[in-house]
Amino acid sequence: MDNKQYSTRELFRRFAPYFKKYRFTLWMDLFCAALTTVCELVLPLIMRYITNEGLRDLASLSVKTILSLGVLYFGLRIVDCIASYYMSDMGHVMGAKIETDMRRDAYNHLQKLSNTYYNNTKVGQIMGRITNDLFDVTEFAHHCPEEFFIAGIKTVISFIILANINLPLTLMIFLCVPLMCGVCMILNFRMRSAFRKQRNQIGELNARIEDSLLGHKVVKAFTNEEVENVKFEKDNGTFLDIKKLTYRYMAAFNTTVKLFDGLMYLVVLVAGGIFMVNGRIAAGDLVAYMLYVSTLIATIRRIIEFAEQFQRGMTGIERFLQIVDADIEIFDEPDAIELKDPKGEISFEKVSFEYPDDHNKVFTDLNLQIHAGEKVAIVGPSGGGKTTLCNLIPRFYDVSEGRILLDGQDIKHFTLKSLRGNIGIVQQDVYLFSGTIYENIAYGRPGASKEDVINAAKRAGAHEFIMGLKDGYDTYVGERGVKLSGGQKQRISIARVFLKNPPIIILDEATSALDNESEFAVAKSLGELSEGRTTLTIAHRLSSIRNSDRILVLTDDGIVEEGNHDQLMEQKGIYYQFYETANALK
Ligand code: ADP
Ligand code: MG
Repeated sequence: MDNKQYSTRELFRRFAPYFKKYRFTLWMDLFCAALTTVCELVLPLIMRYITNEGLRDLASLSVKTILSLGVLYFGLRIVDCIASYYMSDMGHVMGAKIETDMRRDAYNHLQKLSNTYYNNTKVGQIMGRITNDLFDVTEFAHHCPEEFFIAGIKTVISFIILANINLPLTLMIFLCVPLMCGVCMILNFRMRSAFRKQRNQIGELNARIEDSLLGHKVVKAFTNEEVENVKFEKDNGTFLDIKKLTYRYMAAFNTTVKLFDGLMYLVVLVAGGIFMVNGRIAAGDLVAYMLYVSTLIATIRRIIEFAEQFQRGMTGIERFLQIVDADIEIFDEPDAIELKDPKGEISFEKVSFEYPDDHNKVFTDLNLQIHAGEKVAIVGPSGGGKTTLCNLIPRFYDVSEGRILLDGQDIKHFTLKSLRGNIGIVQQDVYLFSGTIYENIAYGRPGASKEDVINAAKRAGAHEFIMGLKDGYDTYVGERGVKLSGGQKQRISIARVFLKNPPIIILDEATSALDNESEFAVAKSLGELSEGRTTLTIAHRLSSIRNSDRILVLTDDGIVEEGNHDQLMEQKGIYYQFYETANALK
């Protein structure tokens, strides 16, 4: 995964469009924020008025005046409460909606990413990014505009009021602000890098847990529980170290703020006191002044507290962007057309291929011609590139050089959806989704009728064993199909292809986990399925490919032998040796 780092500006620029849909809520939120701020700022003014008037001439303050001021204050508090309620409810909902939108975008993007991406990315890392990391974005999306806005107006208004009460004192206080901001910014920057590391380490931890839990059978078989614990403890310890670092920065940050706000109070206390003794500020004014300085400091404190949330949010957005900015390596060409009812003629023209990030060439200048409707089998040593060859036809990977043609057209000219839609592939490593057997077969053609699903299962030789299970088609297969045997899983994945019923079929060791008897039955069905369709079969058991129109022997040197069974036996080459060895082992 590309762990590109983004500048704060870039993060804001990319995040801002998510507010577009919720403009109204956002404006209302800011409006309410302004209301609550104004309400809060009026209170010290009332206090100032009462104190100054009382000290000047106690008789001038009637109970009526105080009561009206009380009513005014109460009214303002009600407005404040309503506005706060709106902010807290709608503001958070807006944040949650943005989080949902972002998660959707990330998930949709993940669906488009190629095998290469998944080969190089830990699932645990992705999981963290689209779940936990985005939780922080909800808070951020809601609080960020609001907090900055409130802080902005509070600081400006406080400053104006403070300057009005006493300008020299105010200037003294505000001298502390740039200094404080400077120190805070440095610490903030450090905090971001610590949060980044923290998130990344959580991802690593997730990936480690996932890996060892999924591999629990291997762990048990080798009694490596202790080894797993040690590996886990290492990652867990690293996480603790990073957390410690984060807390150290946070503590430094909070202490700095405390230091500075102490300094501000000190200025007000000493300078304000001297000013009062000298008669340069009235007692009521000093009281109001103190209250405003408290408001100001509270605002700064809030911003500081928010700094942590801000950094978490920023890290969350950054990790989100690292997903949505991951290259979609395999995509539709701009002028791609729909592939409709292909005849199924496939040719490889001087195809070279190497896995990205791995510079070992699997094929060099491979030429291969498969006629429409032909049944071609590939045999060869393990690691010879059979699976890789199968993966190139549906464009799970793109060729490095040369091209693959389908009905005379480069496969890149077809839309991925229509190309893959016309190919049925039973992959070597069968994957079942957690759910029922029925759902897993129906995955081959979403929306298929029950009858079709059962029919497909019958043809794949799966119906009988399914009916033998307690819940039949409604049996849960467990995560990744753990509750089924290898052969049963294989038959379900074959049933998917029967249901899909595509014109081109690729079977990558599709019957390898079946016993001889069921293989015979399934092979018969597969024979029927491949009737009149282009079929590419890879099999390690040579008996199942004897009847192929053509057999290719694929080794590290490319296709080294080619012909039907009898021809290859006559050649007495590699195929002959394979066949003899297999027979000798029987
Ligand atoms: P076969 O199916 O004939 O056993 P494969 O096509 O699976 O062989 O593998 C061919 C070669 O490509 C092997 O050397 C293997 O190590 C390599 N290979 C397979 N998959 C990948 C991958 N995802 N990334 C890098 N190399 C791979
Ligand atoms: Mg293989």
